[in-house]
Amino acid sequence: MPQNALRQYLEYLKNSGIKELYRPESSKTITLDKLQEKYADCTLCPLHTGRIRFVYGEGDSDAKVMVIGEGPGEQENLSGRPFVGKAGNLLDKMLIAINLPRKDVYIANIVKCRPPGNRNPEAAERLACMPYLVEQIQIVQPKMLLIVGLVAAQSLLGNTNTLQWHRENKHEFLGIPAYVTYHPAALLRNPNWKRPAWEDLQAFQKELEKLP
Ligand code: SF4
Repeated sequence: MPQNALRQYLEYLKNSGIKELYRPESSKTITLDKLQEKYADCTLCPLHTGRIRFVYGEGDSDAKVMVIGEGPGEQENLSGRPFVGKAGNLLDKMLIAINLPRKDVYIANIVKCRPPGNRNPEAAERLACMPYLVEQIQIVQPKMLLIVGLVAAQSLLGNTNTLQWHRENKHEFLGIPAYVTYHPAALLRNPNWKRPAWEDLQAFQKELEKLP
């Protein structure tokens, strides 16, 4: 619809007392919702035994950026949402600092059920859960990946290199440029890492701004 006509139409709606417009859910959102329901009772790896809530992922199904972490913690297991609690709040702040509100990204983890005591997910558990994440990436089709933490980086990029190596080098996953920085939970434990994390985010933002 041409802009003038659109403006007139919106003015007409406003004068008619209509204050909100229904925005139909995209087919990607519907697909993700259906898959979340389908996999919620998954028993493919032992992590299902400690599951209170399946933490599939959430966010904008048309996001340019997908944030990928390691796995749900205690709060996530209770709420069914990724990155809530203190680490989640910090992630929100990190994203806002690069002009990327949480609502504009899609957030998911390598494993969808909480590892007991917040231990790292084991190789077999990551392998079992990885197809769910790959499928999410294929549906959302982000233009950039922001990988937070060493476990997520090693799992996705298939190596055992250090976090520093991952931060300093360029990567791709499924042909999508991937950038690695600290996990917000690690930044809460060690505030000295906030400065290098900020540098990572600024470099990420620069690349993000180049996108059409
Ligand atoms: S972590 Fe993934 S593979 Fe393991 S039970 Fe949960 S959903 Fe299934």
